[in-house]
Amino acid sequence: MAEQINAFQIAQQQFDHVAEMLNLDSGVREVLRWPAREFTFRIPVRMDNSSLQVFTGFRVQHNDARGPNKGGIRFHPEETIDTVRALAMWMTWKCAVVDIPLGGAKGGIIVDPSKLSPNEKEHLCRGWVQQMIKNLGPRQDIPAPDVGTTAQMMGWMMDEFSKLSGAYAPSVFTGKPVGGGGSQGRTEATGFGVIYHVREAMKYLGMEPKNSVVAIQGFGNVAQYAAIGYVEILGGKVECVSCWDRNDKKSYTYSHKDGVDGRFLFSITDIYGTINKEKAQEAGYAVEDGDAWICKEADVLIPAALEAQINSESVKKISSRVRIVAEGANGPTTPEADEYFKEKNIFIIPDFLCNSGGVTTSYFEGVQNDMNFYWSKDEVLQRLDAKMTASFQDVLRRAEKEKAYMRDAAYMVSIQRVVDAMTMRGWLHGDW
Ligand code: NAD
Repeated sequence: MAEQINAFQIAQQQFDHVAEMLNLDSGVREVLRWPAREFTFRIPVRMDNSSLQVFTGFRVQHNDARGPNKGGIRFHPEETIDTVRALAMWMTWKCAVVDIPLGGAKGGIIVDPSKLSPNEKEHLCRGWVQQMIKNLGPRQDIPAPDVGTTAQMMGWMMDEFSKLSGAYAPSVFTGKPVGGGGSQGRTEATGFGVIYHVREAMKYLGMEPKNSVVAIQGFGNVAQYAAIGYVEILGGKVECVSCWDRNDKKSYTYSHKDGVDGRFLFSITDIYGTINKEKAQEAGYAVEDGDAWICKEADVLIPAALEAQINSESVKKISSRVRIVAEGANGPTTPEADEYFKEKNIFIIPDFLCNSGGVTTSYFEGVQNDMNFYWSKDEVLQRLDAKMTASFQDVLRRAEKEKAYMRDAAYMVSIQRVVDAMTMRGWLHGDW
C-alpha cells in the first residue's frame, strides 16, 4: 500500500489511535476528528502590473472549547484545505498540552509570497482579513504568522481589522512587530522552546547536552533559533542545517567542520529561509544534497521544515547514534516512520508539544496587549521556559504512568483537557 502523506488523514489517524486508548465515546470522537467550522474564500488583488489576480484563502477553526481559536496563517503555493485542517486540529492539541486557554485554528492562502511585491502582499493580507472579519476577534479567533508570513504581515492584518471594526484591537493578531504590539522574544520563542524540550529530554535520558550533536532540517524561523539555542543554551554542536533554495529549486544541507554558526548563517539567509549558497561556501561551509541532514551522525534530529519529511524511506537512513527526535515542524513524521521510532526506542518529542513555544509566546503577547503593559525579553523567555518545562513533565508523567509512546501521551493529556472543557460547557449533553 502506498504510504499515506495526507496531513489531515495522519492527524485523524493519530487522534483515532489515542481515542481508542482513552476509550472515548464514539460521538465525542466524531466531534473532535473534524473541524467545527471551515471557510474557503477568494481574494481579488490588483497586482502592480494592473492585472487582477484572484487567490484562494482558507481558515479552519477546529475546536474552541478551551478558549478563542488560535493558529497561524500560511502563504504557500501548495496549500490545501486538508493541510489547513490538520494544522488546525494540531493547534487544538498544542494549546491544550501546554495548558493555555485557547482553542485550535489554522489559515492559509495558496500563493508563493516570494513572487509578490510588498504592495501586493499588503493587499493580499488585508483581503484575507476582509473575508474573515466577522469570525475573527480576541474572543473568537486570533491568527498568527506561520510558513511564508511575517510580523509585518500581522501588523497589516491587525491594522485592517482595527479599521474595519472601528477600534484599535492589537490582541486579534499575534506575532506582530515589537513596538507595534508584538512581544519581545516571539521571534526566538518556537526555536528556543524546542531547545528547552530537548534539554528536559536529555535530563530524563541521562544525556550530557555539552558537546552533543544535532542535525537540523530547515533554516526558517524555527530552525534558526533551534540552531542558535542548541549552541547558546545547551552548549552543543550543530552538525548541519538545510533549506529549500528558492533560486535553484532544490534543497541543500549545510555543514561546517567546526559546527554550524547559526548567527552567521542567519546573517546570509533571506526572509524565506534560503541560505546564500555562495557566501556560505566562501565561509567554509560544505554544501550537500538536501536529504543529507537525516543521515548525519548526531544525538538529536530536529526536523523543522515541512510535513511528512521523515517517512518510511527516509527513516531508514537515520544513524544508530540518534536518541532524540525533536519535532520542530508540524507533522514531520509519517505513521510508518513513527513505528520505526518505537521499534528502535528513539525518544520523540512530538510536534505539538515540541513547537508549542510560539503559540505560548503568542498567548503572552495577547496578555500583554490586553494589559497594555509589556515584559522584557528575559521575563518572556523565563515564563516560556517554565511553561515548556511544565508541559514536558506533564506528558512525560503520563507516558510513564501509561507506559505510552510520548506522542500518544501528549495526545492523552490534550484530548482529556479538551473533553473536560467540552463537558464543563455542556457541549456533550450528558454526564461523561
Ligand atoms: P519558514 O518559512 O520560516 O522556514 C521554513 C524552512 O524550511 C525554510 O528554511 C525552507 O527553506 C525550509 N524547507 C522547505 N522545504 C524544505 C526541504 N524540502 N528541505 C529542507 N528545507 C526545506 O517556516 P518556520 O516558521 O520556520 O516553520 C517551520 C515549521 O515549523 C512548519 O512546519 C511550521 O508549521 C512549524 N511551526 C512554526 C512555528 C513558528 O513560530 N514559526 C510555530 C510552530 C510550528
